[in-house]
Amino acid sequence: MSAKTRDEIKKTVFLAKTRGFCAGVKNAINTVDRLVAESKSPVYVLHEIVHNRHVIRNLRKKGVVFVEDIGLVPPGANLVFSAHGVSAMIEKAAIQRGLKITDATCPIVKKIHSKASSCSRKKWTLILIGHRNHPETIGAAGRAKGNCRIVEDEKDVQKLPKNIGEKILCLTQTTLNPEETLKIERAIKKKFGGKLLPFQNNICYATVKRQNAVKKLASKCDLIFIIGSKNSSNSRRLKEIAEKCGATAALIEDQTMIKPEFLCGHKNIGISAGASAPEILVQKTVSKLKRLGWEKCKI
Ligand code: SF4
Repeated sequence: MSAKTRDEIKKTVFLAKTRGFCAGVKNAINTVDRLVAESKSPVYVLHEIVHNRHVIRNLRKKGVVFVEDIGLVPPGANLVFSAHGVSAMIEKAAIQRGLKITDATCPIVKKIHSKASSCSRKKWTLILIGHRNHPETIGAAGRAKGNCRIVEDEKDVQKLPKNIGEKILCLTQTTLNPEETLKIERAIKKKFGGKLLPFQNNICYATVKRQNAVKKLASKCDLIFIIGSKNSSNSRRLKEIAEKCGATAALIEDQTMIKPEFLCGHKNIGISAGASAPEILVQKTVSKLKRLGWEKCKI
């Protein structure tokens, strides 16, 4: 056997054991599909139903209209709230506009909403660890009716005044990295000590499972492709985790973003997909790598 052939045989694609659509995403997409099938009038969705360009494009082809402002939805029309959830103010405005609301908010996010609302009723202060421009964080913060401080990192914690409240509840976005969140939690505990109610980490099981699967992947692969859109928080965390584990990682929408020169010098390539990325994109990526010489595929 020539040296070249031995070299080629070693080229292997590994797939993350847990990857792609989570239950919340499946439910949200199925909800829109069902409404499209049942309704004779257009179905409107506030924000992207889930953060994935392919999913959005497919739904648009079926006639779904995505809007960023409920003022653009005709009174009486069908409106779906995305998997990320919305604030109490948006919900009220949609009701006042006479829209037929279907709520596709993930049940895990709904639990956070309920805790944030109860925090507001009890006149506690809410500290929400999350990305301030992410719809999930905006929606959850909006359930606390103004009494919420959003922190993205330890620096934000340092900037908070000491006197933000006598009782403070701390919640988190669902798609964070637990290790990074722990650092922020420690900074909050150090600053607010006795005023803090028991800390509540809301990072969901789907996020944790996908992150753990990428860590395993990184122990075998030196290049990892994460399939997901740029605005997908959980997909971006997967890329960061792969890099922290020492792999070269790239967040890609689909297989078309893979250039052969990018693969130079890599033998074991890992593939995972964010919670909003369809499995078909994983399979197309595997097929492309096979065409480029990566013959084996292992999970
Ligand atoms: S990532 Fe978690 S919180 Fe978000 S939709 Fe999926 S299961 Fe729900």
